[in-house]
Amino acid sequence: MRAATLLYHDVVPAGEPESSGFSGPVANRYKLTREMFNAHLRAIVERQQLSCATATQVLAGETTKNAPCLFTFDDGGVSSLTEIADRLERLDWRGHFFITTDRIGDPGFLSADQIRELHQRGHVIGTHSCSHPERIDALDDADLQREWSESSAVLTDILGTPTWCGSVPGGFFSLRVAIAAQRAGMKLLFNSEPTCRWSRFSELHIAGRLPIVNHTSPAMAATLAAGDARTILQQQFVWAGKKFAKAVAGSFYRQASEWYFRRQPQPT
Ligand SMILES: [Zn+2]
Repeated sequence: MRAATLLYHDVVPAGEPESSGFSGPVANRYKLTREMFNAHLRAIVERQQLSCATATQVLAGETTKNAPCLFTFDDGGVSSLTEIADRLERLDWRGHFFITTDRIGDPGFLSADQIRELHQRGHVIGTHSCSHPERIDALDDADLQREWSESSAVLTDILGTPTWCGSVPGGFFSLRVAIAAQRAGMKLLFNSEPTCRWSRFSELHIAGRLPIVNHTSPAMAATLAAGDARTILQQQFVWAGKKFAKAVAGSFYRQASEWYFRRQPQPT
């Protein structure tokens, strides 16, 4: 199975990056303004021979395209409902929203009622862990299992239907992370490996995603949405470099990127 899955976070009014989702310079780097998100959608719509789908359709074999485009949104910021859902629905598309369950109802994050509304409007809801740990892959077995099992149970309770998918916070995917997700009942886990290919571990499907940041141009978003192999290969080189830096430098990498992005202009 294949899909060109775009990895978005929040969409915010210009000059208000703190209005949705996590705060801080690193988090803000992943937030698009309304205007930029509109431009992304326009560019994707204009791309010929591109079809948007949901993971449910991919798993059911209902997609006609070789690699349909999927929209995913991490963290559970309130903009999922206030900015994103309407814009997708106007195009008759649906998104996948991954919720950090400890933050449900906090300022800037979705409430339980809002999560239920997204689900009822046809969007896919999944878990993004309980606490969004800095390194989910470094947790001990009990804490790792709790992050997936408790967050899945919270969403199951809110929606009245089993939680079957999730996305890995920070992209810190490992086999242990996948095994714990499967034990929590998940059928599909998105990570941040820039690939269109889906793999399978026992009963769990594992899907890569193509990351979008606030300076990703609309043309680039459309190229990624179309599953352009050369562009995705370039992203894989960047991702491999980042993974290497994270492995070698650990928390120094995080502190260095926070320092760097604090010095960058904030999204407007
Ligand atoms: Zn996240």
